[in-house]
Amino acid sequence: MTSDDTLDQRGKVVARYARRDWRGRIARCLPSKAELSGAKRRRESTGSDRKVIYADLATAETAARELEKLGAPPLRAYLCNRSKRGHAHLTSMPWGGR
Ligand SMILES: [Zn+2]
Repeated sequence: MTSDDTLDQRGKVVARYARRDWRGRIARCLPSKAELSGAKRRRESTGSDRKVIYADLATAETAARELEKLGAPPLRAYLCNRSKRGHAHLTSMPWGGR
């Protein structure tokens, strides 16, 4: 049983480590217009859509360890192929699942 309080704490951890967009909101991963229209092959499965963006693997790993302390399932950080500069996401799925 996960209390609302725990979920709130996890949300704060995500907010602390996530990358922000220019409006100061938590940045999320979205396919480019070219990918959506089918002009370009999608670089990531739809599993990455809307995922919170972390600036790099180390930041994502740090967030993962804190989330696990708050009772989250084991989390794995991975690099997303969508960004040229590279950014990271977290997944609770094993075996490379995204
Ligand atoms: Zn991404």
